[in-house]
Amino acid sequence: MISIKNVSKSFRSKQGTLTAVENVNLDINEGEIFGVIGYSGAGKSTLIRMLNRLESPTEGSITIAGREISKISEIELRKARQEISMIFQHFNLLWSRTVRENIAFPLEIAGIPGGERKKRVDELIKLVGLEGRENAYPSQLSGGQKQRVGIARALANNPKVLLCDEATSALDPQTTDAILDLLVDINKRLGLTIVLITHEMHVIRKICHRVAVMESGRIVELGPVLDVFKNPQQPITKRFVQQVTEPEETKDAVEHLLERLPSGKVIQLTFVGEATEQPLITNLIRKFDITANILQGKISQTQSGSYGTLFLHLDGPESELEKALDYINSQQVGVEVIA
Ligand code: ADP
Repeated sequence: MISIKNVSKSFRSKQGTLTAVENVNLDINEGEIFGVIGYSGAGKSTLIRMLNRLESPTEGSITIAGREISKISEIELRKARQEISMIFQHFNLLWSRTVRENIAFPLEIAGIPGGERKKRVDELIKLVGLEGRENAYPSQLSGGQKQRVGIARALANNPKVLLCDEATSALDPQTTDAILDLLVDINKRLGLTIVLITHEMHVIRKICHRVAVMESGRIVELGPVLDVFKNPQQPITKRFVQQVTEPEETKDAVEHLLERLPSGKVIQLTFVGEATEQPLITNLIRKFDITANILQGKISQTQSGSYGTLFLHLDGPESELEKALDYINSQQVGVEVIA
């Protein structure tokens, strides 16, 4: 669906030339939810803005749905923009217009007649769950509702690609989850390709199929989200993975506890969404002559399994502990013996 080839983008100023994006190569598949993660200044916005030609590459080419977007005319660009729409961190709504009028706006611009427009707006309001709020103004809505308006407006012209620029960064965790669920729902129902940029790994983990990690304008790591979580290669990727799986305060607490444990082993289990912790612990106690106690940990559940880190204290005869470790190693979790 999207093919980015040798794309670089430099900005010139009095201070000199700044390369915001450097030699990026990326193919994003139709129907994929693709995440780009990086710290502030990594070049994420510049990259995503080149996808709908809010910026043009200094070098390289970008092809979307078979059309090279840096080469098309203004008229074709307008058409292309209908196929690629965008939602924003601060929603970018029209404050003097109601929910209904905001959503209708792109349809007005596209010249869709009144009756058809009304029908389409009704569908969109239902799709994003804003029934009953049609006549409210943005200032009367919660953050999550505002982003729902943003999403409905972005979907008005049936785009093929939805770009999300830090779309949940201004929202609280619960609202973030609800908006991410809505994006997944839209992706499944409409087969829409979604490209999102974020600095938050939990967003990537929750909804993306693949992720690219950006640092200083370059993509330094790329792969399926599960693989990147299981086996991060670059130091920056490890830091992002730790954001979700291993809060620093947990590690400190375990180190403190270690001093008080007379025997046995302490292991760190990293769950990446393929196994759930409860059955694993129950099996350990049933199969082996050991005790297993959770020292610390932060685990969250998703449809596919648990995410997060658990520190377990296992105690019992040495031979049983060895067997228990072999068993854990055969499961779909990361294992590290701490002490
Ligand atoms: P991110 O989205 O990862 O925070 P950006 O793409 O916004 O990163 O920025 C990457 C680099 O490019 C930054 O150093 C930023 O200051 C610079 N930059 C972005 N847009 C412009 C611009 N229009 N003019 C000059 N420099 C820019």
